[in-house]
Amino acid sequence: MTVVGLEPSLRLMPFRFERLAEPPGQVLLTQDGGDFIMLDTLAFTQVITSPDGLESGLRDDLLARGFLCHDGDQTAARITAAQLATRKRFIGEGPSLHICVVTLRCDHACTYCQVSRRGPSAAGFDMSEITARAAVRRIFESRAPALTIEFQGGEPALAFDRVRQITSDARARAKADGRIVQFSMVSTLQRLDDDMLGFCRDHEIALSTSIDGPAALHDRHRQRPAGGAFEATLQALDRARKFVGADGIAAIATITGDSINHPEEVVDTYVEAGFRSIFVRPVAPYGFARRHAGLAPSTQDFIAFYRRALDRCIAHSLAGRPIEEAYAAILLTHILTPFGGNYVDLRSPAGAGLGVLVYDHDGGVYVSDEARMLAATGDRRLRIGDVGMCMDQLMESQTIPALLASGLAESLPGCWSCAFQPYCGNDPVHHLATCGDPVGHRAFSDHCARHKALFKMLFAHIAAGDPAINRVFSSWIGRQTLADISGTVRLD
Ligand code: SF4
Repeated sequence: MTVVGLEPSLRLMPFRFERLAEPPGQVLLTQDGGDFIMLDTLAFTQVITSPDGLESGLRDDLLARGFLCHDGDQTAARITAAQLATRKRFIGEGPSLHICVVTLRCDHACTYCQVSRRGPSAAGFDMSEITARAAVRRIFESRAPALTIEFQGGEPALAFDRVRQITSDARARAKADGRIVQFSMVSTLQRLDDDMLGFCRDHEIALSTSIDGPAALHDRHRQRPAGGAFEATLQALDRARKFVGADGIAAIATITGDSINHPEEVVDTYVEAGFRSIFVRPVAPYGFARRHAGLAPSTQDFIAFYRRALDRCIAHSLAGRPIEEAYAAILLTHILTPFGGNYVDLRSPAGAGLGVLVYDHDGGVYVSDEARMLAATGDRRLRIGDVGMCMDQLMESQTIPALLASGLAESLPGCWSCAFQPYCGNDPVHHLATCGDPVGHRAFSDHCARHKALFKMLFAHIAAGDPAINRVFSSWIGRQTLADISGTVRLD
């Protein structure tokens, strides 16, 4: 709810609030610039009814954080505007993440596969040299100051010549234009030979793989003809780390209904495998995953899983086995730092089309990877054109203004008044896939329910102010070790 009050000498600035269940009796107030404060109910009532009567410490805190201002003084408004400009600096930059689907071929047949994967020797599903050259031209037409090119499949190792071509072309183009380009690749790792791994090392291609938990959980859904996907992944991981180092490979745990009772085992698997980060995400209800009813956990089950997984990561970190939960690190960065727009999947306006573009193997251009998955099941509304069209033509697609209108959380029903809105964002592609309409309805949105629950969980930790957990969270945000963080850390 937004409150704007009038007082003779102290004036309330616009803010949103949420009464927290944890800790009980606390009210979270957030303002547009992303600053926040937690107050007990009594202080909250006094703030909105008679701010002039506040005790000086709280009044000064509220003035400093942009919740109050002196009548006629524009300072707080200017500071909030500057904060907002920092958080939204990505607007107008153009797409920064460019996903190149170099092949649909893959040697796995995962039950939750979101794309129309093809067998490893199928013909006609690799990106051509001409398409790859055109994709690099489109990528460098984006005005984004730093570009990231992500290779996806299928399994990109099965079309590694295209990976080499795009990387080399993009490197040469970045050097000529004086621009920054980074690379990443999503792979099972198993088909990357020493020569490919050497190329990844030489060109600093960050690798990302999937490990869903212990062998029984992983192999249940990540299937390959020979079986043993978990063991094969661990062996490939060992080999790949010799080339790119332990921090050169990240991993994602996809949570199915089968995982929900095993959060500790999933996190422990990552710690035992030597990871310092785990990205926990539920199965997405897109593409071919939709065919398997019951595969995705309920939102409630996922949240219960996530709470235990987060606690496990904190416990390991405190015991000297540092491991961050990567999504918590993203949300904490949104809450606790001035920077909010680097993660294209959670920002406002939404990243689809504006922050990310996908170049499919056949030259189709989509607004996100999820949009490509929807197209694979017959819904091609989010295909904005062909790689032969220039960036300006792609951005003239009617899809782009529709995404802008449905991806601006500040103006959407439910989001505009939500206390978590400065740190969150709508996901129009997700809502198109799940509700048939890109705006969606917050009351029925699993995206919203999940994010509200995660924000509440993190704010409960922040409010509790446990110095040990504060240090763990600070280490996740700053990508530092606990030993690097000295002294007492306050997050509120
Ligand atoms: S999606 Fe939900 S949690 Fe996020 S801003 Fe909108 S209402 Fe708030």
